Amino acid sequence: MTTHCSPTNSNNYLRVSSISDFLICPLRLWLKVKTKVPAPSTLEMVKGRFLHQIKHEINEATNQATAESLSQIIDSFSESVKPYLEIFNFDEDFLNNYIMEEVWKDWGMKQKGIKIITELPLKSETLKVSGRADRVEFFNGFVWVWELKTTNGSAKIKEYHKLQLATYALMIEEEYDLPVRKGFVEFVNDQNKTIAPVLLDDKIKSKAKEVIVHIHLLLSNSQPPSQYANTVWGCKSCPNEITKMCPLWKKITEEHNTLCLKR
Ligand code: SF4
Repeated sequence: MTTHCSPTNSNNYLRVSSISDFLICPLRLWLKVKTKVPAPSTLEMVKGRFLHQIKHEINEATNQATAESLSQIIDSFSESVKPYLEIFNFDEDFLNNYIMEEVWKDWGMKQKGIKIITELPLKSETLKVSGRADRVEFFNGFVWVWELKTTNGSAKIKEYHKLQLATYALMIEEEYDLPVRKGFVEFVNDQNKTIAPVLLDDKIKSKAKEVIVHIHLLLSNSQPPSQYANTVWGCKSCPNEITKMCPLWKKITEEHNTLCLKR
C-alpha cells in the first residue's frame, strides 16, 4: 500500500513532518521531495491513523455529552474498535481503559471551560510551513499543543519531537495571536501510554525557525546535499524506494556489517 505524503504541499509550504526527515538525514528528505516517491504506508502508520481517528471522534462525541451519556459513549467506542484489536495487536483491556480515560478526560476538561480542537490545520505565512496539530487545548489565554505517537519501541523524546511541537506553537502564535509555552508528546504502544512534557521556550522556537530556513535552502537546491544520516538506525528506517536511489546506502550498510564483524 502506498500513499502520497509529500514533505511539501502544492503551495510549496513545508510540512511539519519534514523536520524529522531532515534531522535524520537531509539527503533522504531531498530525495523524497525531488523524486516525489510515494511514501509507503506501513502497518504502524495505519495504526497511528486509527488511534488519531479514535481521539478525534472522542473529542467530537464529548462536545454535547452529559454525565449520564458517558458510559454509553464508552461502550460504543469499545464495541467499534473490537475488529481492529488483532489487526493492530492492541491489548483489549489497555485499549478499553484508554478509551474510558480519554472520554472522561475530554468531557471533564470541557466542563471546566477548556476548548479542545483535534486535527487542527495550521500554517505560517512567514515560515512557509503547514501541518495539522493532533490536539490543541485553549483555556483563558493559555494554549497547550499535543503530538500523538504510536510506537513499538522507545517512548523517548527526540529532538525532532521538540522541534515539531515548537513549529506547531509558532503557527498557533501566528494564527491565533496567543502564546504557547508548553507541549506534550503522548506515546502509545500496544499496552501502555506515556506522556512527555516539552517546554516551548524562545530557545527551542528559534531553533525550529533555523531548521525550517535550512530545509527551505536544501530544497531550493537542484543538487543533492552532502549531509546524510549519521546513524545506521537512520538508514535502516529509510524506505526501500529511497535506499534504491541513495548512492550511500550500499557503502553505509557494508561499513556497518564490517564493524559488526569486528566486534
Ligand atoms: S539510505 Fe541512509 S543515507 Fe541514504 S537517504 Fe536513506 S537515510 Fe539517508
